Amino acid sequence: VKSVYTFGGGAKHDDPRSRDKTITGGKGANLAEMAEIGLPVPPGFTITTEECVRYLKDGADFSDALRAEAAQALAHIEQAVGKNFGDPSDPLLVSVRSGARVSMPGMMDTVLNLGLNDDTVTGLAAASGDDRFAWDSYRRFLQMYSDVVLGLDHGLFEEALDVAKEDRGYYNDTEMTAADWQQLVAEYKTIIADGLGKPFPQDVHEQLWGAIRAVFDSWDSDRARVYRRLNDIPGDWGTAVNVQAMVFGNMGDTSATGVAFTRDPATGERAYYGEWLVNAQGEDVVAGIRTPQYLTKAAREAAGAKPASMEEAMPEAYGELARVFELLEKHYADMQDIEFTVQQNKLWMLQTRSGKRTAKAALKMAVEMVGEGLIDEKTAILRVDPMALDQLLHPTLDPDAPRDVLTKGLPASPGAASGKIVLDADTAELWSGRGEKVILVRVETSPEDIHGMHAAQGVLTARGGMTSHAAVVARGMGRPCVSGASSVAINLSERSLQIGSRALKEGDLITIDGATGEVMAGQVPTIEPELAGDFGILMEWADKHRRMRVRTNAETPADCRMARQFGAEGIGLCRTEHMFFDASRISAVREMILADDEAGRRKALEKLLPEQRADFIEIFTTMAGLPCTIRLLDPPLHEFLPHSDAEFADLADVTGYNVDHLKRRANELHEFNPMLGHRGCRLGITFPEIYEMQARAIFEAACEVAASSGEAVVPEIMIPLVGTRRELQILRALVEETASKVFAEKDNTLDYLVGTMIELPRAALMAGEIAEEATFFSFGTNDLTQTTLGVSRDDSARFLSVYVDKGIFPRDPFVSLDIEGVGQLVTLAAERGRSTRPDIKLGICGEHGGDPASIQFCEETGLDYVSASPYRVPIARLAAAQAAL
Ligand code: PEP
Ligand code: MG
Repeated sequence: VKSVYTFGGGAKHDDPRSRDKTITGGKGANLAEMAEIGLPVPPGFTITTEECVRYLKDGADFSDALRAEAAQALAHIEQAVGKNFGDPSDPLLVSVRSGARVSMPGMMDTVLNLGLNDDTVTGLAAASGDDRFAWDSYRRFLQMYSDVVLGLDHGLFEEALDVAKEDRGYYNDTEMTAADWQQLVAEYKTIIADGLGKPFPQDVHEQLWGAIRAVFDSWDSDRARVYRRLNDIPGDWGTAVNVQAMVFGNMGDTSATGVAFTRDPATGERAYYGEWLVNAQGEDVVAGIRTPQYLTKAAREAAGAKPASMEEAMPEAYGELARVFELLEKHYADMQDIEFTVQQNKLWMLQTRSGKRTAKAALKMAVEMVGEGLIDEKTAILRVDPMALDQLLHPTLDPDAPRDVLTKGLPASPGAASGKIVLDADTAELWSGRGEKVILVRVETSPEDIHGMHAAQGVLTARGGMTSHAAVVARGMGRPCVSGASSVAINLSERSLQIGSRALKEGDLITIDGATGEVMAGQVPTIEPELAGDFGILMEWADKHRRMRVRTNAETPADCRMARQFGAEGIGLCRTEHMFFDASRISAVREMILADDEAGRRKALEKLLPEQRADFIEIFTTMAGLPCTIRLLDPPLHEFLPHSDAEFADLADVTGYNVDHLKRRANELHEFNPMLGHRGCRLGITFPEIYEMQARAIFEAACEVAASSGEAVVPEIMIPLVGTRRELQILRALVEETASKVFAEKDNTLDYLVGTMIELPRAALMAGEIAEEATFFSFGTNDLTQTTLGVSRDDSARFLSVYVDKGIFPRDPFVSLDIEGVGQLVTLAAERGRSTRPDIKLGICGEHGGDPASIQFCEETGLDYVSASPYRVPIARLAAAQAAL
């Protein structure tokens, strides 16, 4: 098989590997595809991801075979362009770019203008008839190559450029003349020789292989690793390298470069959307150094901006671009994100890919494209990333709330966020680690800032457009972002900033609205999201195509209502202990725990009974006949105990015990390993009166709601942390006896279920006989993960991120199910449970019930439902549909 594939310039693309993203990467595969459908693509070649993997693994030099293939491919470019690489009279220049299977914007390296040296630069000048262009290209190349390949500090080069401009009294780069650039090139070469201890490589082939090596290496750079971890991209994919003939957007006023989307990536509107710069190279647009101009006349007018749009300034090239947009959308049946260059009025396509989009845009496009006949419902369902829905489910600013607007930037990523100003990524991470909400405020962001962007509620930058790094990354992460707020002036050394005329400092509260670009002082109130419209339509399609039911983990009526609005079809887990913490009843709970004997406990439980009953009445009423799984008390009792002396004193007042006695009892309850201690069904076994009270409260409430509403209420009573059949037998009998008593008292009866959680490896292994006592299983994968891995769910944060970084776990197993390991126990328990009770109902209620990858696994295992926290319910509905398709 080949390691190098040519594209464009009449190359054949008939080997399917050449258009397979896993082999030639997203960029390479799409360049071949575009060339194949007749679009103008500068010729080039792609070195496969396989070569990258080999290179990173063996660390060895490139093989002769690879070098030979690359030489042949280079010859193809030379022939197609009619110029030779390294030819001093009219040199071919190339770009060298990364291109992984999925795009990782700005994470890996790129070198442009490669092939320039002291000889070829004069050839370029002569052939183009433009000295200034040639020397400008050479200095760009020196700077980029030094940064990316030679690892020299790019600050040195920027400084030299600043000094050069200052000396000459210039303000803009555009004022630099050919001679100025030439002089700067000489300075750059000195900087390089000093830094490197040897001169800049003049051999163009050495340059090329150096750049290829740097691109491969950049796959394992720190920022790429962080990005992969945040985006669940496996480390063993590797990146392809694309070597492509340069086209120049910086050859005067008939040349330009830009990035564009076939639809608006923020709103999903069906309108071309993009930015461009006259007389510039690609990096200038993304780097946010010059402020880019609008692509279309309509967008320019809507923004009230002056500089001509591309549509107005270059009508011909723009017309061609619009034609290409239409072709690409039809071909890929999706919104495309495009890079293009116009060289002397001729349009060239440098890249296309499915465009990143906000959740709002993803929804709108998916729904509209079904309407346009471009895609079908199933494709629409698969188009929307379930996790991205999160962005839509969170509040936006209350339009009626007063706003103290400080300034307005670009609406780069939607959503509203308030938080304390932090001025660098490390501070963002530190403060958010302490539980504070922060807004990261930077001049502009770079890939080094992504951990801070992730930690922050939102991002505000002073520079950069809608396609700047900050904007692209924030949209991908679902963080609100306002970019290009040029009246923000940051003073890092004083940890302060000026926004317009207002002086602020790090730690001050601000609010940003990524939908309008507004930046406000203080915290502005928010309102709940709109769940109708496109969201409602897609959810309807998802519901039509999913098999599994989606329930929620909720215990308060407010959560239940919220979950129902989000489409929950019942409660999968009501954790009754949450009801014990209520301020009005905690003292009765403590009295019960600290009682000396059963009689004392019963006395306290008497006080709790009406409270619990009232809870369940509210829940059954709110859920209106939908199934409700209620779990009996689970946590170790000491969790409810008083901590401070004041709390002990209060308790002494209520119970009549003296403080010393209470403290001694509290001490007696101390456990070394509470998670493996006196908790779960062990409480019910040792203190049956607790479970008895809870069961009574449930049945009394169910009878009452059934009587008053006329609707059937079918409580599902769930026993936690069961490990043996006998435990469940005993507790089931207790529940059934209590039910009989209540039914006799009320002269009524109703259906109910008794089931168990599968949270211990032993329970999974013994699921066959446990199922004989249980009408349902709910996999408590939080505890099942903890007990199977022997990793404490409360202490794992300290080391798990290192485990994920080192690839020991692909993801945090408390977030995404360890399918390989814990998954085996789930599969086995499901099989064994069904073998003794074929109609057993199976669900999951650990955190994993709201995680798309885990939901996929639940579908494959044939579970009947997943249960997730209220905000995750829509995510689970969509993920369940995707899993079923
Ligand atoms: C579980 O263990 O997965 C579970 C849902 O119970 P809890 O998180 O309350 O322990
Ligand atoms: Mg549990």
